[in-house]
Amino acid sequence: MIDFQSVLTAINEAASNEKERGEIADYIPELAKVDVNNFGIHLIDSQQNDYAAGDSNELFSIQSISKVLTLSMALSLIGENVWERVDVEPSGDPFNHLSLLELENGIPRNPLINPGAIVITDILVSKLENPKEDFLTYVRDIAGDNTIDYDETVALSEKKTGFRNFAAANLLKSYGNLNNEVDVVLDFYFHQCSLAMNCAQLTHIFYVFMNHGKCRRNKSYLTLSQVKRINAIMLTCGFYDEAGEFAFEVGLPGKSGVGGGIVALLPNKFCVATWSPGLNAKGNSKLGMLALEKLTTDTELSIF
Ligand code: GLU
Repeated sequence: MIDFQSVLTAINEAASNEKERGEIADYIPELAKVDVNNFGIHLIDSQQNDYAAGDSNELFSIQSISKVLTLSMALSLIGENVWERVDVEPSGDPFNHLSLLELENGIPRNPLINPGAIVITDILVSKLENPKEDFLTYVRDIAGDNTIDYDETVALSEKKTGFRNFAAANLLKSYGNLNNEVDVVLDFYFHQCSLAMNCAQLTHIFYVFMNHGKCRRNKSYLTLSQVKRINAIMLTCGFYDEAGEFAFEVGLPGKSGVGGGIVALLPNKFCVATWSPGLNAKGNSKLGMLALEKLTTDTELSIF
């Protein structure tokens, strides 16, 4: 039996000695205020044992990690129809790149890059009575945790500087792949990205993707086929244009966000989240990637 606690403690020690911690994202002004020295890690295994080290209970902005959760909700609402409006191929481009969108006539490459996530948000706006409230309820319900909330300051901060996302949404609209008003869709999108969580909460939600679509209370949210699709998309598209490197070094499906969070999982075994706000040149948490590489190397557990 693997002693996850010792592995996490060693990872945290290695992280605290690391001098090169990457750069904090500052294109959303509110994110730039976070201390680069934070590092946290939390792991939940399939028996629901929790292990943690470092700043694993500090809240941070989950940003693009939320894209997996909106995709999950959209899939459970309209099923395979999602794929009529968004593709499932890796983009090989940064998260906010727009050129492919033009080349491919307004069908985003995948649901985890910004234009794809904006289309998914549009689907939810069409389907839900009160999109922001209903999505928050969905996330809280999976987590079994009513304290999870949006960070209005972060959402507003991004709204003021989200020029590329406005460009993406307008481009989608021009191709007929956005049914609702740009402002309405982006207001919801900025809120989903602003969700504040700690490493523990993230693993408690993503537990559903490692446990055949069932949450910690055994309530079912997704079919097996939907879980397969979500994990496949995380593996191939979850790390901007560094998904290949993440599969190569870590070997787990997962998703990162510019707030410095990463969540990853090994089906039937464990779900892990790290947070360290300094990013590498590709926009993924620098210490988070190192930590997860150490985790799968030391435990010899990966999907491969
Ligand atoms: N809200 C961010 C944006 O759209 C999310 C980016 C990310 O975490 O990848 O720019």
